[in-house]
Order: sequence, then structure tokens, then C-alpha cells
Amino acid sequence: MKLSEIGEFGFIERFTPHFNNLLTPGTKGIGDDCAILPMNESEEMIITTDMLVEDIHFLRNKISAQDLGHKSLAVNLSDIAAMGGRPVGSFLSIAIPKNIEVEYLDALMNGYYQLSQIFRVPLLGGDTTRSIDKLTLNITVIGQVKKGHARLRSMAQTNDIIAVSGPLGDSAAGLHAILNNYPDDKLTSSLIKSHNHPMPHVNEGLWLAQQAGVNAMMDVSDGIASDLKHILNASDKGAVIELSDLPVSPQMKQFSQKYGHNTYELATSGGEDYCLLLTIDNKMAEKIIQEFQQQFGHELKSIGQINREKGLRYELNGKSIENLKNGFNHFI
Ligand SMILES: [Mg+2]
Repeated sequence: MKLSEIGEFGFIERFTPHFNNLLTPGTKGIGDDCAILPMNESEEMIITTDMLVEDIHFLRNKISAQDLGHKSLAVNLSDIAAMGGRPVGSFLSIAIPKNIEVEYLDALMNGYYQLSQIFRVPLLGGDTTRSIDKLTLNITVIGQVKKGHARLRSMAQTNDIIAVSGPLGDSAAGLHAILNNYPDDKLTSSLIKSHNHPMPHVNEGLWLAQQAGVNAMMDVSDGIASDLKHILNASDKGAVIELSDLPVSPQMKQFSQKYGHNTYELATSGGEDYCLLLTIDNKMAEKIIQEFQQQFGHELKSIGQINREKGLRYELNGKSIENLKNGFNHFI
């Protein structure tokens, strides 16, 4: 059987139950943004790991070494943020092909360090090895969270408001600009920056985990169309998303019009936004959304609601969009 027949998640499901049988009380394993391990009376340890492989996750001639170092750590910090945790240290293992210069590696580590410094996360160790021709980076980040405060994908409740902590689709637009060699101008440069240099919402995640009304949380890595389904499956719920409520930047809108991309499709399926996707008790949502804006100076945007139905449905101005693709095509 080919792996493509069952996919990445199908593969993971084949072995997960065996390992879940070995879990000790208070430990959460495979299936969320981070694993959780008991630590002491008041804290839990959270751990995430992510691998970036050249030509699969990045093209070496399309991202600067500095940005690659930044991004490889950023995507891991984003998973710590998704649990509402504080990052405490990272490990970096790197497989280096012969054709890479020391100056390239210095720039890569400088990008990694600059982001480490922002969130005060020391590099604690790792491994270096040779590779034949591809650069591969594997990062593990350890964090901590107040006992019982971690937000899981399984915590969504019926009638919760669904919200995101940043604009959607900028990164996907940036990726299109990179892959299609669109001119690097004022319009594309900020979108390309969103793709190559994402800033994880660590402080936002910490603050949100302190709010009693915040239920499920994860980060947006594959796009909400795919990510929200993880929350719905884990929580055994359904959801409606109102397309006109999706937070889309003016640059992304302008970019879509100019280059003939579909705004809603980029916003729902583009991925790599690395903002937070969460569900909030509907009685507390308005207050939390208001206070978030005051606290961070950017928007926490309500985009839909959790319900008892099965699956994810889209509406545009209150009307169901039956065929997502066709529905989207009307609004290019
Ligand atoms: Mg994640």
C-alpha cells in the first residue's frame, strides 16, 4: 500500500492507540499541538517538535538563511502558544549538505537567535550531521503551562464563538508570489514577509489561556478549513463559518484582485498563518474580544460558531455555500 492512500494522518492513526496504552496518568500524547507531561503541583510541561525539509517545506533559493532560521523556530513556538504555554527552551538538530557555506549557517543561526531573544527562549542542545544534498532542520521546543490551563482541541462547546487572532491568507498569498515569481514590490513584499518571517502569537496565547471563557485552541498551520476540522473531530462538534467575517488584510485583497487569486480560498485553505484559532464561550466572547484588542492592539476576530451538527459549513452573508469551490468562484 502506498502512503498516499491513507495520508499522513492515516499513518499516525495506525500506531497511536498502541502508544496511548502506555501513557501514565496526567500525560497527554499524540493528537494536539503539544504533548503534556505532569511537572509539579502547579505546572505542566508541554513539548512540540517539527521538521523542515528542503524542497518539501522550503526552497533554499527562495528564503534567506536568516528567515529560515527564524521560521523554523517560529512554527514550533506557535504550537506552544496554541496550548497557552510559555516556551522555556529549544533543541535544534540539523542535517547539512556539503554545498552549504559557514556564512549561510551563521545567518541561519542568527535568525534563530533573534527570535529566541524576543521570547527569551535559550537553545539547550541538539545534533548536527551531514546529509547528501538536502538541508533538514528538526526543532523541539519545551514549554510550561499552569496546571489545568492548557487549551486542547477537544475543549470546544456547543454555541462557542470561533475566533482567530490574526489575518488569514497573507502567508498563502506570499507563497504564490514566491512560486510564481511575481515582482517583489510594495504589495508583494509584506505578503512574502508574512510567509517567510511569521511572528508566533506567544503572548496572545498566554493571555488567552488566562481567560475563563476561552475553550479550545490551536494554531493555524494548514488553513482553518483543515485546522478547524481537528477541533471539530476532537470535540465531536460541527461549525458554521461566515466568509464575510474572515479577517483579510487590504494587501491580500488587492493581491487577489491583481493576480486573479481567490480571496476566500486563500483565507480558508492557504495555511501557514501561525495565528491562533480558538473557541470562546458565547456569553464571554464580546468582552474577551474587546480586551484582547486593548491588550495587543490588533484584532481577535469572530468568524463563526460551534454547533451540534456534524462537519464544517460555510455561509456568505447568512446563506449556505453548498459547493465550496463553486461558491468561492463567484467572489474572485
Ligand atoms: Mg499546530
